[in-house]
Amino acid sequence: MQLQDILYSQGFGTRRVCAGLVQHGWVETASLDQGASFVPCTDASMDFDTTELGLRVQGVEWPYHAKAYVMLHKPAGTECSQKPSTYPSIYTLLPAPLRQRPCKSAIQGVQAVGRLDQDTTGLLLLSDDGHFIHRMSSPKKHVPKVYRVTTKHPVDDLQIGKLLAGVVLDDDPKPVRASACTPVDSHRLDLTLTEGKYHQVKRMLAAVGNRVEALHRSGIGTLDLPPDLAPGQWKWLSAEDLVRLN
Ligand code: URA
Repeated sequence: MQLQDILYSQGFGTRRVCAGLVQHGWVETASLDQGASFVPCTDASMDFDTTELGLRVQGVEWPYHAKAYVMLHKPAGTECSQKPSTYPSIYTLLPAPLRQRPCKSAIQGVQAVGRLDQDTTGLLLLSDDGHFIHRMSSPKKHVPKVYRVTTKHPVDDLQIGKLLAGVVLDDDPKPVRASACTPVDSHRLDLTLTEGKYHQVKRMLAAVGNRVEALHRSGIGTLDLPPDLAPGQWKWLSAEDLVRLN
């Protein structure tokens, strides 16, 4: 693939902008299989094998990804919307190339897989792979999501029993249930859901007479939020992470 097309595919701007980056000497390449060091490339039409390409743009290394799959540790006080109403958007936490990657759909860049409330923290996946987003967020796929819930009132066995048996929410007569519910201490529990209704955890806890004080998503499927990923930080999903999600 030509270097300007590679840069374009990675979200570095229009083909013209990408050609300009190369012509200014701001793009360095390396052949990964030979462990070679980076050298500037000023020919925007030069062909590269993307499977062996090391890329550095304006001094920052950017691993080539045909599709982007990333995780973000969503901090509290952020909205999962491109056009937030009150709080900053989670998309401002991502580097420009992830937000600008060209997509076939009208919307550019990576998209969040489902949404978390502004005050919810934890694991959020983002991708530009429409099939992946659909697979991970479709209610029919029943991908388990694990939440650490901090409650206002003590959690008791009766509440846990009801959460596991199923509670009816105000907008649907069909009960929703937790597939697992493990108390952590008097005011915290780990709740696993396989659906993703609006404010589902908060509404389920309200339905059993309690109230959510803090909500944190610790895992999706068998993928856990890594302890070293601080709030506001993001990282690429590894091949092993993707296997865990499939
Ligand atoms: N359930 C909620 O109530 N809020 C979230 O952000 C996620 C699940």
